[in-house]
Amino acid sequence: MIKYKTREEIELMRESAQIVSRTLGILAAEIKPGVTPLALDKMAEEYIRSQGAVPGFLGLYDFPNTLCMSRNEHVVHGYPTDEPLRDGDIISVDCGAIKNGFYGDHAYTFEVGEVAPEIKRLLQVTKESLYLGIEQCRAGNRIEDIGFAIQQHCEKNGYGVVRELVGHGIGRVMHEDPQVPNYGRRGRGKKIKEGLVLAIEPMVNLGTFDIRQLKDGWSIVTADGKPSAHFEHNVAVVDGKPEILSTFDYIYEALSKKD
Ligand code: MG
Ligand code: MG
Repeated sequence: MIKYKTREEIELMRESAQIVSRTLGILAAEIKPGVTPLALDKMAEEYIRSQGAVPGFLGLYDFPNTLCMSRNEHVVHGYPTDEPLRDGDIISVDCGAIKNGFYGDHAYTFEVGEVAPEIKRLLQVTKESLYLGIEQCRAGNRIEDIGFAIQQHCEKNGYGVVRELVGHGIGRVMHEDPQVPNYGRRGRGKKIKEGLVLAIEPMVNLGTFDIRQLKDGWSIVTADGKPSAHFEHNVAVVDGKPEILSTFDYIYEALSKKD
């Protein structure tokens, strides 16, 4: 059952989303060759707690950390390790926070040092597809309109759109109805209404869309071993239109100072 949110609830959700946005901004400044994912995880947890919030993933389905960190051929749900980042890696950092009982949950795929042009392009196209999907998140449209827009853009560029993992409704529970596939047919699925809040999150592979799960029980990797990108925003339908509750601006600010 979909739980539509009031304006007041959406404002609380914006607060949770913005805590995650600022966390990712802090990490953006620190991500470079030699840094360990576990060190970044610790930083994220400390910042989230300093904001009077609680890490959203820690303990959820028994996940052991604050961040999901998925490097190179890892698609999502990787956990931070003490293996240092290397020049040319990409790493998806997915972060959740709970404040006032509401979840924020979004993700950005970062470049570590100098990344190959074909991988930079994968990141660019995946991020573009996220915004094309968000554009469809308006009253009167249907859920699959979102995935249709994402899929069209990614496949036009020759990429594989992951099928088994999807976006979701979000609120007092991390994964609420409806599921939001990153593929679909125009005009299909539930009608989008005022107060709907979604986590929209294309997971896009440089090669084919096939994935498999590692024996660790968490990590999802591409079947062909090629890299995968993941970007996510929290989006509410307000006055019939998509309003992005999260932001990548803190990331951009940090990255511009790094260069
Ligand atoms: Mg996420
Ligand atoms: Mg999510």
